[in-house]
Amino acid sequence: MTTANASILLIYTGGTIGMIENPVTGALENFSFDRLRQHIPELGRFDFSIDSFQFDPPIDSSDMEPEAWQRLVRIISDNYDRYSGFVILHGTDTMAYTASALSFMLKGLDKPVILTGSQLPIGVLRTDGRENLLTSIEIAATRDDEGRALVPEVCIFFENHLMRGNRTTKINAENFNAFRSSNYPVLAKAGIHIKYYNTARRFSGVEEGLQPQYSMDSNVVVLKLFPGIKEQVVASILGIEGLKGVVLETYGSGNAPRKEWLVNLISDACRRGIVVVNVTQCNGGTVEMERYETGYQLLQAGVISGYDSTTESAVTKLMFLLGHGCSPEDIRARMNSSMAGEITL
Ligand code: ASP
Repeated sequence: MTTANASILLIYTGGTIGMIENPVTGALENFSFDRLRQHIPELGRFDFSIDSFQFDPPIDSSDMEPEAWQRLVRIISDNYDRYSGFVILHGTDTMAYTASALSFMLKGLDKPVILTGSQLPIGVLRTDGRENLLTSIEIAATRDDEGRALVPEVCIFFENHLMRGNRTTKINAENFNAFRSSNYPVLAKAGIHIKYYNTARRFSGVEEGLQPQYSMDSNVVVLKLFPGIKEQVVASILGIEGLKGVVLETYGSGNAPRKEWLVNLISDACRRGIVVVNVTQCNGGTVEMERYETGYQLLQAGVISGYDSTTESAVTKLMFLLGHGCSPEDIRARMNSSMAGEITL
């Protein structure tokens, strides 16, 4: 393994890592990448080149939109041949959505794209940002003895864990270990040494080189079931004009209450060409609609299994497939297959 002759593009989108307290309101606000660089002089100690690109103005990741994902894809694709890896500094709030979206949009990716950020701003003494950033850069720069990237996929690195991006969820608003990949093992752990497991996985299209994909259609909704959910609520959501896809967050292994109105509304939506994908509200485990009658009724109504997908991944995959003009039948087929390691079949 080596980082010799690596070159990294650091893309700064914003987030806590580069924020500072407003002296008047006390709220955290963004500051420029140059200030961030001043706070981490260690960036100058790597023995390979690091260039940077910054979103101007940097954004709190709550303001992330598909347009910003498109921008990231454009930056990576325009600079793809010049760099051996990419590190994206991003707010933690929507990082798992961006990582999932990029995993689908960067078709044929053969280089590391690592997202990281922090829970405490870089100017704060106990910040987790320095460690997260420096190790992300090191991982993005690491290649095997044949010169091929060790982790040629979109990942999140946080609190010593490298995770497949489209498998992650933000699970904690307080602790440094803010992300979890419940249904897929970590790709690397950083201690005294960085230990890699299960890496060098390349997804379809890699032989043809990077084929950036830009279209996303956000006419989708996440509908989370809860005991007592009202018929009018479900009817209004499924009746939204222009709605094309629903991520249905169900109980356990994909179960829903046995209410005739619910099944009727869902099967009517499926008949109207709305794609309904079943993901579980549980942190870990998979949807198995054949297991209980309460799940089987959804299967019969035309609902597609999201397997062990995170909500973030299911939403962005739907946006991607809808954005690429796939028919409900195509989407059904693509949801039943893994595009970038997002589900276990
Ligand atoms: N609100 C911030 C953001 O997501 C939180 C963070 O960076 O951790 O941009």
